[in-house]
Amino acid sequence: MAVTEAIRAVVRGDVNGADFRDAIVKRSRQLTLMGWVRNDEDGVLRIHAEGERRAVAELVAFLRDPPSLARVTGVELSQVKVEGHEQFVARGVSAGAFVVQEHAATAHHFDLRLEVEGVMRSWAVPKGPSLDPAVKRLAVEVEDHSKEHNSFEGRTDGGGVIVWDRGTYEQGGRVPWPEALTRGHAVFVLHGEKLHGGFALQRTRAGDKAQWLLIKRQDDEARPGSDVVVERPESVVSGRTLDEILGG
Ligand code: MN
Repeated sequence: MAVTEAIRAVVRGDVNGADFRDAIVKRSRQLTLMGWVRNDEDGVLRIHAEGERRAVAELVAFLRDPPSLARVTGVELSQVKVEGHEQFVARGVSAGAFVVQEHAATAHHFDLRLEVEGVMRSWAVPKGPSLDPAVKRLAVEVEDHSKEHNSFEGRTDGGGVIVWDRGTYEQGGRVPWPEALTRGHAVFVLHGEKLHGGFALQRTRAGDKAQWLLIKRQDDEARPGSDVVVERPESVVSGRTLDEILGG
């Protein structure tokens, strides 16, 4: 694709709700534009679009004079660098569930699970997640789990499990999922009770039991110097720690 231009647009007016956002996704895909659209908390729509100059101009015309889905009072445009997106998506839309289970087994670890195409893709994280962007945590890819397992908490043969955190997540990045996982670099945003904001999984060794690094991205939810697994050891379901489950 001959990418020639990239813009950021801020669209003001009565532009809340999913219908206009979804129409922008549809129109952008028809125009073979890449990028994203997001409903922001300040009530505006923000759009990043890149592609052929004429297609970008057609999208801008659509934003300025949309079908009866929205009342647009202004569109601010700025030229930005082409970022190399490989899709056009709505951001801020949940992709499904995530859960982190603390697991006492032969080796103590945390299991990070993200719902992808109906199953829970899973990584064993020996030291658990961190909200400090300077901390890179080893995450070993393990077998998929069923969604039914997400709420499991209790004793097991020779150990136990607590639901350490849970919530929903958004898929991010410039490459669509699950291809991003196949390629070994996946960006996502967690909305948990303890974990919030952007994270990245970066594969460092492929093959059986592939090794990844789990890294908090720099954003408003980053907590440099913190250690959330020490500060918040309790289950988000029962309030009990794993030691309490194992002891009683
Ligand atoms: Mn496990």
